[in-house]
Amino acid sequence: MHPRPPRRVVVAGAGIVGLSCAWHLQRHGAEVTVLDRSAVGAGASWGNAGYLCPAMTVPLPEPALLREGLRGLADPDSPLALDPRPSARTAAFLAGFARNATGRRWRRALAALAPLARASLGAFDELVAGGVALRTHEAPIRIGFGHGESTAGLRHELDAVRASGQAVDFGPAEPGAPFSSRIGRVIELRGQRHVDPGQVLGALADAVRARGGRIVEGAAVRAVGYGPGGLQVDTWSGAPHRADAVILATGAWLPELGRAARVRVPVQAGRGYSCTVSLPEPLTTPLYLPAVRVAVTPYRGGARLAGTMEITDRDAPFRQRRLAAILRSVAPLLDGFDAASVRDPWVGPRPLTPDGLPVVGSTRVPGVHVAGGHGMWGLTLGPVTGRLLADQVMTGTRVPELVALDPSRRAGGPQRFNTAPLRVARGMGADDKIENKADELKGKAKQTVGEATDDDELRTEGEVDETKGHLKQAGEKVKDAFKS
Ligand SMILES: Cc1cc2nc3c(=O)[nH]c(=O)nc-3n(C[C@H](O)[C@H](O)[C@H](O)COP(=O)(O)OP(=O)(O)OC[C@H]3O[C@@H](n4cnc5c(N)ncnc54)[C@H](O)[C@@H]3O)c2cc1C
Repeated sequence: MHPRPPRRVVVAGAGIVGLSCAWHLQRHGAEVTVLDRSAVGAGASWGNAGYLCPAMTVPLPEPALLREGLRGLADPDSPLALDPRPSARTAAFLAGFARNATGRRWRRALAALAPLARASLGAFDELVAGGVALRTHEAPIRIGFGHGESTAGLRHELDAVRASGQAVDFGPAEPGAPFSSRIGRVIELRGQRHVDPGQVLGALADAVRARGGRIVEGAAVRAVGYGPGGLQVDTWSGAPHRADAVILATGAWLPELGRAARVRVPVQAGRGYSCTVSLPEPLTTPLYLPAVRVAVTPYRGGARLAGTMEITDRDAPFRQRRLAAILRSVAPLLDGFDAASVRDPWVGPRPLTPDGLPVVGSTRVPGVHVAGGHGMWGLTLGPVTGRLLADQVMTGTRVPELVALDPSRRAGGPQRFNTAPLRVARGMGADDKIENKADELKGKAKQTVGEATDDDELRTEGEVDETKGHLKQAGEKVKDAFKS
């Protein structure tokens, strides 16, 4: 047991993860203040696809995705897009990602995610039972494949999730509206749910306030540390907030505050785009189009389209071209699709980690905890994360499900980076470009490790050698990936 549970807790970040933490901290009796640099749902949590889909909650780094990503380098409209001039931080992240993109590591990460995924829908029901006025909708997800397109990858993934202990119910279904005739096969994934993410966030924020919590918008946290009165949170506006415990839930912005708390897991933005469109008939179930990696979800009388994984700076400007690419890719696959009806254009940063696991738990700074890095599945996993972390923080007892998500783990990338952009030679063929990029990433990552050797987090020679070894392997893997 904790000698004395924290009384005042400050949560930085009012996304699904921060608000879920806040609600569960209150369940334990804590006085909670949530600070957001912008507003509730200003990050990735508002415009996402709204799937609550534990059956598809799998780690992102896997060999096929790595290959696809490298090929996508040559196509500016690819659903997987890499900034042509990635920062050294991004290059190091990619090297770590490549190192983790093996079948063995994927299965290991899946086993670590499984207990959270299994409990994820129940965690939404728990919020509802506790008075949060959020609404979830149960409906199968219909996954549409083109004629001749293989379903093997999806089946393999769903079988692996089933083997990890989840009841996964899927099977063939009739193609048909709103899929166009180009969709020849449909797999229906049953027992999943979807939500309007904005409605969920609003309801959760209202519930936190109704229990006496404060949510302060426009309050960017700039530092967390110990002052004369103990733990304090400094913002760019207003007086410091005193706290007995702090939770950093700042999504893709985690590195700023996490670095001072000695969080070792790099978090990189994988930006996605979404918009709302009208379809001739109201959509009754979510759809997924794996060939173009676009999710289509019933949304306020229309459909929300969400897709693209753009590995770039989380605060980069909205790129109209990416949204246009989503619309172009979907148009031939849905009947009666009205591209002129586009509204709510949005971009948001998925917080990605190199090993595909969230970062949840205590840091090496007493009283400072982290909840983030959920990548593609933070909406699904937000409430269960809030419950588990609040239990750990308030009882002082380590929660077994969080052990593998430790913020101090080595996830495959150094923490110290320079920001010099990479230069990409122009006027080359596609294959040359890919090979050139792979070499540059490898070189940049090596250089970054060289620069990191004076970092006190990498101070022993053994650690440096280990990291160099991993990067070398990652470089080889990058090369292998585009050879195959
Ligand atoms: C296109 C797209 C589709 C997606 N679809 C799904 C889906 O269908 N299902 C699913 O489960 N997941 C989905 N996701 C992923 C999901 O949206 C994210 O994993 C999740 O929203 C992350 O939540 P978060 O609370 O950690 O971060 P965020 O929602 O990004 O919240 C972080 C908050 O921290 C604030 N902040 C940042 N810095 C500071 C600071 N210094 N001080 C104070 N506040 C700060 C930000 O303003 C922000 O409000 C999707 C993501 C995208 C982009």
